[in-house]
Amino acid sequence: MNTLQNLHQHCTFCDGKDTPEEVVLEAIAKGFGGIGFSSHCYMPIVQYSMTAENTPEYCKEINRLKEVYKDQIDVFLGLEYDHCCPLAPVGYDYLIGSLHNLYIDGEYRNFDGIPEKHKAMVDDYFGGDGLAFAKEYYRQLAKLPDKAPIDIIGHYDLITRYQDTQPLFDWNDKAYRNAAIEAAEALAGRVPLFELNCGAVIRGTRTTPYPQDFIIKELKRLGFGVVITTDCHQKHLMDAWMEEGKEFLRSCGYEERHILTKEGFIPVPL
Ligand SMILES: [Zn+2]
Ligand SMILES: [Zn+2]
Repeated sequence: MNTLQNLHQHCTFCDGKDTPEEVVLEAIAKGFGGIGFSSHCYMPIVQYSMTAENTPEYCKEINRLKEVYKDQIDVFLGLEYDHCCPLAPVGYDYLIGSLHNLYIDGEYRNFDGIPEKHKAMVDDYFGGDGLAFAKEYYRQLAKLPDKAPIDIIGHYDLITRYQDTQPLFDWNDKAYRNAAIEAAEALAGRVPLFELNCGAVIRGTRTTPYPQDFIIKELKRLGFGVVITTDCHQKHLMDAWMEEGKEFLRSCGYEERHILTKEGFIPVPL
């Protein structure tokens, strides 16, 4: 079986650079067995998401490509779901659950995209206390399955995105680590998988993938399966860092990863 696939793939329906068909053709050219689209769900407060209007078109187009290229590659219709999405995430083959926004004072507020937004969130809503921001992020992450049937937790510790250049808290602090672990314990049994997200390494904003190794070890202890993804916005990068990613997982104790098939997720050796 061809197990080469990427399930965290963006395209022109949100902030990706290539059309879905260009992505599928690139995946075929690279010898992929599967490609899963995970456009950003409609987020009313965010510019880079799909809109309410183009979401049905997205589903239609990916389903069309599934049919057209079915003899060459498995195409999957996924969604990168965020808790601020007002549309019910139904009809998808799988959901990645990711937080880019926090619910504060009765409103969703975006913190992601550029370093300044992470910093502004900490200053504006947490009195400059980065640890308080991190704790609230994990508290809300743990509740994500209350909103939608999530298959994969996306970029588990996105709040560490700019840790190398703009640290907002000490990620070795026991209190920080406990908050991340408590969320994992709450999510265990409710979400089967997390992603080793190599996107930030590929783009050069981090030197290691999401999540940090201590979190991966906890997720392993709690029985989570793992998929390797590239959170790809440019088609030529869809397979970047995948081999290094396997090595990283092995160093954290994993011996297998999961892939998506037409029959659902299955484990394969790393
Ligand atoms: Zn994301
Ligand atoms: Zn993404």
